[in-house]
Amino acid sequence: MIQNKYKILLIEDENNIRNLVATVLETAGYQTIPADSCSMAKTLFVSHIPDLIILDLGLPDSDGMNFLDYVRKDSLTPIIVLSARTNESDKIIALDRGANDYITKPFASGELLARVRAALRNNRFCSTEGRLPNGKFTLKELEIDYNARQVFIRGEEIHLTQTEYNIVSLLSENCGKMMTYSAIIKAIWGGYAQEGSVKKLQVNMANIRKKFGDKPGEANYIANELGVGYRLNE
Ligand code: CA
Repeated sequence: MIQNKYKILLIEDENNIRNLVATVLETAGYQTIPADSCSMAKTLFVSHIPDLIILDLGLPDSDGMNFLDYVRKDSLTPIIVLSARTNESDKIIALDRGANDYITKPFASGELLARVRAALRNNRFCSTEGRLPNGKFTLKELEIDYNARQVFIRGEEIHLTQTEYNIVSLLSENCGKMMTYSAIIKAIWGGYAQEGSVKKLQVNMANIRKKFGDKPGEANYIANELGVGYRLNE
């Protein structure tokens, strides 16, 4: 049987980690294209046109951020940054420069696969002229009707304020992508993230999550990475 496998360009210079990630991905049915440097990644990106990129930031010949910029110049291929860095600002810089998500080493294989599925799903939505098919969005029991500006969970309407709706709508259009505080603030209110605007966002997000029935420590619709941003989960 011929399978139309997703191609994943996997850029990581540490052999152990690259082999481990490749095994996890291939076991799950993905095809991997391994690269161990920035220059090799550029060549393989052009020749293979991958569906997804997993990118280590610390590469021997160049910073992974340079490859990120290189891809984003003219491509929306989803990028998941794989990083040993625990520094929050590196993650935020990578996200604001166009990465879809990041995962911090060491990570569980289940977590990696969930991020990969979410990023590929996000890319499929974006390919339909930036809008989701028939003006609707569904994710498990969550449904959004963009024309009516209504949100439902299990068929029950969730009553949101205009600002809350705008935030939910934005996250849904970027489903699976980690949105930084500054990216959300810029899209919703314009301007830049300051202490006051981050507070305002956090208050709105707390209200949305309460209305959604999200509970701390459970698998919820909206994930919060403290100090970084929010992601609508698959
Ligand atoms: Ca490295």
